[in-house]
Amino acid sequence: MNFKKIEDLEKKYYAGVFSRLPVAVDHGKGVYLYDVKGKRYLDFFAGIAVNVLGHCHPKVTKTIAKQAGMLVHTSNWLYTKPQLELAKLLTKITKQDRVFFTNDGTEAVEAAIKLVRSTTGKKEIIAMKNAFHGRTLGSLSLTWDEKFRKPFEPLVPGVKFVEYNNVKKLESAITGNTAAVILEPIQGEAGVIIPDVGYLKKVREMTEREGVLLVLDEVQTGLGRTGKLFAYEHEDVKPDILCLGKALGNGFPIGAALYNGMDFKTVEHGGTFVGNPLACAVSKTVVETVINENLPKKSAKLGLYLLKELKEGLGLRARGRGLMMGIEVKDGKKTVLDLIERSVLTIHTKNTVRILPPLIIEKKHADLFLERIGSLRV
Ligand SMILES: *Cc1c(COP(=O)(O)O)cnc(C)c1O
Repeated sequence: MNFKKIEDLEKKYYAGVFSRLPVAVDHGKGVYLYDVKGKRYLDFFAGIAVNVLGHCHPKVTKTIAKQAGMLVHTSNWLYTKPQLELAKLLTKITKQDRVFFTNDGTEAVEAAIKLVRSTTGKKEIIAMKNAFHGRTLGSLSLTWDEKFRKPFEPLVPGVKFVEYNNVKKLESAITGNTAAVILEPIQGEAGVIIPDVGYLKKVREMTEREGVLLVLDEVQTGLGRTGKLFAYEHEDVKPDILCLGKALGNGFPIGAALYNGMDFKTVEHGGTFVGNPLACAVSKTVVETVINENLPKKSAKLGLYLLKELKEGLGLRARGRGLMMGIEVKDGKKTVLDLIERSVLTIHTKNTVRILPPLIIEKKHADLFLERIGSLRV
């Protein structure tokens, strides 16, 4: 099937919600994707920070095949081992008490919203300007951008937005009815907005003092992306609730809300598919591989190199932490399309080109990217 035919099928049969890039992917291997004509692309956004181990990592493929041949689904009426093994692993590495598994990131945020309400009995949640937490009605209520929210109002009431990276404004927005504060350690969808060093720590100290729960949405920053296993480790803080998703299954859908000092009561929450054995077995392999292969450290090291070369070598306006990076350009969309011409895949938010490669990239892949973007006038 050629590209035009694929494009036509999509236009005819598929929901019109996605603004696609002009690439139809056939298969992937490692850090590369191959289109339907066999052209190879360097994948520098990894399915939006998802494919931390690249495409079709042999360990992940093996686990999928093995578990698929054993047990895929049972519902949560029954116990399954992969679910509990992953629960044990994730609570250990996050130092949280318990986990509720979900199918994706937005559901992890939904679980967090319900948990803060049932735990505190309060209705008010403070979120950040420019935040992105998902598209279902609860998490959408915490998402800042009007273009996502406006057509669907009224949303969940009791949400206040305050300026990101400003502890004073956050503190003065807290009232006796505030249940929780939710934020991303680095705002991803907004275009890689990095707060000042110390911000997260101050937010943690202040929310603790005020008796307000702190929910960290690490759906995008988690699992080594920023150069630590979790972004909160940069400031040595511990959230009350931690939302994970994206990289957790390396592309196999799974998310999680981890928490301490509280719990759901029986039947307060649930889901037919959540914590299914296939997703959990895959996720366990992914998390173990990320840790065993030292990918957070590699992300930190290559991230520093890439950022330095982008800024000092190419004179670009770039910012980032680990392998989560944004480059300011004149025209974001055009730069992404120009990079596609040069066989490199990135995404953009307005005029920020976002760089989120698999964490398994090596220096030669970073150099290839630098050479390709260096050949453009951005
Ligand atoms: C992507 C994202 C979500 C939503 O995750 P989905 O799996 O798309 O529902 C939530 N929060 C953050 C920070 C994200 O980047």
